[in-house]
This record gives sequence, structure tokens and C-alpha cells, in this order.
Amino acid sequence: MTISLHGLTKVFPGGVRALDSLDLDIGEGEFFALLGPSGCGKTTLLRSIAGLETPTSGTVSIGGADVTALPPGRRDVAMVFQDYALFPHMDVTANIAYPLRIQKVPRARREARAAEVAGRLSLSELLGRRPGQLSGGQQQRVALARAIACHPKVFLFDEPLSNLDARLRLEARTFLKRLQDELGVTTVFVTHDQGEALALAHRIAVMDAGRITQVGTPAEIFRRPATTFVASFIGSTPMNLLPGEVAGGALHVAGAVLPAPPGLPDGEEIVYGVRPEYADLSAVPRDDAFPGTVAVLENLGTSTLVTLEGGGEDGDRLVQVVVPEGEDPPVGAAAWAVPRPDRALVYHGDRLVHP
Ligand code: ADP
Ligand code: MG
Repeated sequence: MTISLHGLTKVFPGGVRALDSLDLDIGEGEFFALLGPSGCGKTTLLRSIAGLETPTSGTVSIGGADVTALPPGRRDVAMVFQDYALFPHMDVTANIAYPLRIQKVPRARREARAAEVAGRLSLSELLGRRPGQLSGGQQQRVALARAIACHPKVFLFDEPLSNLDARLRLEARTFLKRLQDELGVTTVFVTHDQGEALALAHRIAVMDAGRITQVGTPAEIFRRPATTFVASFIGSTPMNLLPGEVAGGALHVAGAVLPAPPGLPDGEEIVYGVRPEYADLSAVPRDDAFPGTVAVLENLGTSTLVTLEGGGEDGDRLVQVVVPEGEDPPVGAAAWAVPRPDRALVYHGDRLVHP
């Protein structure tokens, strides 16, 4: 089922504008991630699709039909919440079969369906247990099984992995990806974790303050973040975003002279973006590099994140570089961070102008 949102606005009593005239089209069978910081309106957007929130204005369509006025029970969507919302007094079978019971499916049929879905999610051994007797990962799978049980046309996931510890979260992520591949059901997945969005989604919408800043594939969003907000939000290490200026046809940024993209006149201010993974460290001076002093080394396992502190009048400026295992520079040494020009981003007026 496709999902279309047009001019969706939600103003809560008290005046918080959680959604601000938002437009979005999600394709049939797509695994779509809504990514953004806490409070940007992700849950409100998901609840509006589910019918749990009435928009102040705008429309929600599912499968081409306007469902804005339909109650949640008539939208054919299943929502999985952050806290799973399992019934503590019911066993796993009853929890999974619950939506079927609401639909008045006969007991034998709904128990057979629960057992079938449980098998698919490796829960067959646990059907008689109650949620209190399950691990976090198992509870999460029961919540998924309950969502799958009634063959919904759309899955809505609100940070479903955030209560799992780091290791389990990675396993659950792989599991979820495979499940969505198999089922092919249109899925909207809310997360504040950029790694999760990049790993799972076919496409990502980055949200900021009730609006969508950028929509694209993980590769597009990673490679060409449309604004410095998106750039600062995506990536496993924070992007270097350095203010600079165009002069003499070149970019002057944090002590480096770098090639300017065409069309930027002298005197314009820009922001130069480069990921720490896309810069190299030099122990000898270079014009096309940011000079600094090695201030901090952070071990990332297979590499090291090096923080350089700018010298002189640039004393507050920090530039980070990831260096391969075994190539740590000494703390206190002078060093130059060399950005890879083919991976650099240039922002002008907070819009990406290169590449
Ligand atoms: P997210 O899920 O991205 O963290 P939410 O959609 O939960 O964001 O919230 C978006 C904004 O709307 C926040 O400022 C939040 O405080 C506000 N908000 C959410 N629900 C309500 C509510 N029921 N009443 C008033 N304000 C709310
Ligand atoms: Mg939320």
C-alpha cells in the first residue's frame, strides 16, 4: 500500500506545532525510515498515519484512499511501539492473537495463526510464557508477531529497537530487515538513530521541527546531505563543518586553501564539510590541509578518531580525522588534516552547492 501525506499539520493544545504542513509519498512495499532528533514530530507523524492523532489540517491517504476521517481500526495498519505494549497477564499466544480476537476470528483459527507467526519469529518454544518471563529481545519479537498476525497492509514502527541493549539491537535490526524483505509490506520506521535508518531503509526522510528537510536513499543522504543539519546528523562520527570564505577563486577554510566550486563569487561565506573518514593525516605542512595539534585520540577498534585543535587565532576550532589501526599520531604533535576533495561538501546559505 502506498501512503501519501498532504499538507499535514498538527498543532497541539498549548500551541506546539508538531507537524508543519508536511508532504510525503511512500511507495508500495517500501521500508521507509523517519529520522530526526527527539521532539521533531516523528511519533506524531506515525500516530497520524495510524489514526491515533487527528491532524489539525491536511490529509492522510493509504492505498490511494483518503483515510483522514477513518478510525484506527479501519485503516489496516499495525503499529509496534517503543515499549511493545504487551499485555502482562496474557501468554505469548494470547498476546499475538489479540488483534484477531478483536476481529472475532474463531479461537482455533487465531491460535493456529499465532503458532504460525510465532514459528516464523523463533518464538515457538515460548508460547505459554507471559511477557514478564521473556527477555527484551523476545518481547520485541512478540510485539512484531502481534503486528504481523492480522496481515496488515502497513507496518508502523516507533523506535522498536531502542529498548534493546547495543548487541541485541544489531541482531534485531538484521532480523527486521530480513522479515520486511520477505513480507514486502509497506513499513514506516521511526528512529533517532542514523545508523539504524541507513542500515534498514530503502529511503529515509530526515525531519527537523515538524518538517521534512530531505528525502532520499541512504546512499544519497549520506553522500549529499542537503543542509548542514542533515550533514551533522548522518554518519557514525560527526561531520567536520568548517566556516570559510571565497577569495581569489579559492576556498579559504580553517587555514587551508581548497578548490572552489564554480559559480561562487569572491567574498561569499561558505561552510566546508568533510567526514573524519574522508580526511587523511599529514605530519608535514600542506596548503590544502587544516593545521592543528593532536589533542585527543579515541580508539574506534579498527581505527582511531583523532581530534586536532587549531592553533593561534583559530584556537577553538576542532577538526577530526579517522586514521587506520596502528597509525595513531602522538598527542601534542603538530599535524595537518587533508580533506579528500572528491568527498568534500560545500554549503552556501545552508544549501549544498557542491557536489
Ligand atoms: P518525536 O517522536 O520526534 O520525539 P513527538 O512527535 O513525540 O516527537 O513530539 C513533537 C512535539 O510535539 C514535541 O515538542 C512534543 O513535546 C509535542 N507533543 C507531542 N505530543 C503532545 C501532546 N499530546 N500534547 C502536547 N504536545 C505534544
Ligand atoms: Mg517519538
